[in-house]
Amino acid sequence: MAHHGVSDQDNPIIPGTRFRVHDGTRPQPRIVHPGTVSTPERPGDPPSDAVILFDGADLSRWVSMSGGEARWRVAQGYLEVLPGAGDIQTRDHLGDCQLHLEWAAPATIHGEGQGRGNSGVWLMGRYEIQILDGYENPTYADGTTAAIYGQYPPLVNACRQPGEWQCYDLVWIAPRFTGNHLLSPASLTAWHNGLVVHYQRSLVGPTQHGQVASYQPHAPTAPLRLQDHGDPVRYRNLWYRPLNGYDAP
Ligand code: MG
Repeated sequence: MAHHGVSDQDNPIIPGTRFRVHDGTRPQPRIVHPGTVSTPERPGDPPSDAVILFDGADLSRWVSMSGGEARWRVAQGYLEVLPGAGDIQTRDHLGDCQLHLEWAAPATIHGEGQGRGNSGVWLMGRYEIQILDGYENPTYADGTTAAIYGQYPPLVNACRQPGEWQCYDLVWIAPRFTGNHLLSPASLTAWHNGLVVHYQRSLVGPTQHGQVASYQPHAPTAPLRLQDHGDPVRYRNLWYRPLNGYDAP
């Protein structure tokens, strides 16, 4: 029996590892300060190892889809879609990652269905997690808030009212390719306002409107894209943590 932090080297090896049960030589987890939780008034502090994409001040980590200046509006700690300015994307190329972001649909209700508070988080620029004002706003299930657009509805509708800050926490595992062959599809686990809405969901392919698309090989990392769908949706506290060490099956 291990006690007082001293391991017993007679314990058995844990299958698939080179360590014994309670092995005192096993490396300790890296220490990360976990940050703080957001409140409606103020975004929380990101964890100490997060890569910050938007901290409330400027768009220096973002560009337009053509690579020019990102022209969305920055105001009082948040970023707002400037309708007509087009999608924006990160300078960073993201692969497997934990992604956190907070968003708010316009407080003044305008439009209905897909025309109300629509934006979107496009992982690797290809795979959309829908952002929509889905509060008492019926639309097709695979296009509502937190849907993997055109593929899977979220497990629940966890929407807050328009104008209130909401959060997405995602675990994204990029698809793996060898040559033109798909080795493993993209996988998403996601929380909307703290509720699990996708659990290790395998994506069918890239996002298409009204279509089923198949995977086309692409690089293991790519920019993250936010959608301009014509509605002034707001964002704050965007950060990610690369998940290194994930091995595809
Ligand atoms: Mg959208």
